[in-house]
Amino acid sequence: MNLHEYQGKELLNSFGVRVQRGIVATSTEQAVSAAKKLQEDTGTNWWVIKAQVHAGGRGKAGGVKIASSIAEVHERASEMLGTNLITKQTDQKGLPVNQVYVESGTSIQSEYYLSLLVDRTKESWTYIASIEGGVDIEAVAEESPEKIINYTIDPLKGLELYSLKQMADRMGFTDDVHSQFVSITKRMFEIAKDKDANLIEVNPLILDDHNQLIALDAKISIESNALFRQEEL
Ligand code: GDP
Ligand code: MG
Repeated sequence: MNLHEYQGKELLNSFGVRVQRGIVATSTEQAVSAAKKLQEDTGTNWWVIKAQVHAGGRGKAGGVKIASSIAEVHERASEMLGTNLITKQTDQKGLPVNQVYVESGTSIQSEYYLSLLVDRTKESWTYIASIEGGVDIEAVAEESPEKIINYTIDPLKGLELYSLKQMADRMGFTDDVHSQFVSITKRMFEIAKDKDANLIEVNPLILDDHNQLIALDAKISIESNALFRQEEL
């Protein structure tokens, strides 16, 4: 079972992974009041409007739009809601946009890739990280495999802090960002165990102007055989 981006981010946030403040909307009016509420709460004067469909590649397909005024929020939301979004990952018909997620805008210093997934061939959990984020990870793996960092958890040893720190080293992180990265990876494993997630993909994980690592996108998939014990989700 796939979660929508906004649901995935709620989950990440509830486990202590930093995300941007956002509100989901099913109508243009709701999108406008969401933007106003975010402005009141965070002081932001720009927003990102994101189509909530179960497919990646939304950015390039017009499903992620920046708005720099309330009028523009109205315009962007009305353009998206009620249409079908066709991305690289959908068929030719695309997927209906019934909801948009309105987020406070974030200034991006750098974009990274980070995921944790059940690797069936290795019969364990594997982290994949890369300094090349916000782009198609398959393309990175093909064109510059040296930019992909892997860590497969040894089932007998369990999650090893040392290996998470090594990943952070290889990403080139130091000081506070290094410890933020280690903490995010640790929390992703907690989510995986607690919520029976077989994929948690954050692409991009970004570094903002205040040197905070933020999950700017989230794709989380819950193992369907375990849904009986994940009723809440
Ligand atoms: P995807 O195309 O479906 O994977 O959607 P994403 O949520 O990953 O968004 C695509 C791209 O839009 C990201 O890689 C960012 O470059 C950009 N983007 C998304 N949200 C923001 C934001 O708040 N600020 C800025 N500057 N760019 C954003
Ligand atoms: Mg993405």
